[in-house]
Amino acid sequence: TAAPAVRLAEQADIEKWWPHPDSESDKYSRGVVGLATGSASYPGAALLSTAGALAGPTGMVRYAGSAHSIVATLHPSVVVAPRVSDAGRVQAWVCGSGLSTDQRAREELRAVLAAPLPAVLDADAITMLVDGTHANELRARTAPTVLTPHDGEFKRLAGSAPGEDRVGSALTLAAWTRSVVLLKGDRTIVASPDGESWVNPTGTPSLATAGSGDVLGGLLGSLLAAGLTPVRAAVAAAYLHGLAGRAAAESGSVTSADIATALRTVVPR
Ligand code: AMP
Ligand code: MG
Repeated sequence: TAAPAVRLAEQADIEKWWPHPDSESDKYSRGVVGLATGSASYPGAALLSTAGALAGPTGMVRYAGSAHSIVATLHPSVVVAPRVSDAGRVQAWVCGSGLSTDQRAREELRAVLAAPLPAVLDADAITMLVDGTHANELRARTAPTVLTPHDGEFKRLAGSAPGEDRVGSALTLAAWTRSVVLLKGDRTIVASPDGESWVNPTGTPSLATAGSGDVLGGLLGSLLAAGLTPVRAAVAAAYLHGLAGRAAAESGSVTSADIATALRTVVPR
């Protein structure tokens, strides 16, 4: 049988999926996202993933990592801890951007993989997965995992770069890793292990800037913690990230911090 058709993400999809608080909501019921990102060497990744998460629909953002002091100083609404194991109640994890690959980072990745919670794995988490130590832990997970590789990270994971058929390449990796794959690029692809695939139309080359993917990861984690399915969370995050890149470009400045700020203007309200 033919593979199901690739779907094009639309504004109406994102509006339909976006959760809004009601009179019964509290900060926990809106979702708590945990961020295991950044390090002493890369505090910016912690700040950018935090800013992305704060633009999402969750009621609380927790940060767990070496950059906890600066995150708490610059984002007073974020609850911080030095380690994943100290973070308290979390409903989805984001792990990897700027985390480094040292022993401490490995322990944090292991804690995230072991938690029975949805997880976004990006950047250094992908690098640490590839050396084999954690590959079986990934495949053994029962909670959903979303991998967010750019082409270089995809090549590390899959053994070869995505081919001409980017949708097919992402679907193959998704099946092998039993994870949703968000393959970054001009037209970001979202592919699921059961053969569903989406293409995002809102990309802009302005997104090709340092730290841009960290913002995306934080937003994606917030959507997972808020209860969206992994595919919907990934599609919505890519879509809104693209709109934010366009809005930032129109305002004349597209650092990753500007993309995070612009996210607040493009999310459904
Ligand atoms: P990262 O490499 O992790 O910082 O992520 C880069 C982000 O920018 C991803 O969301 C990509 O989809 C996006 N991006 C990179 N290059 C382009 C491009 N040429 N056109 C559109 N989006 C891009
Ligand atoms: Mg990245």
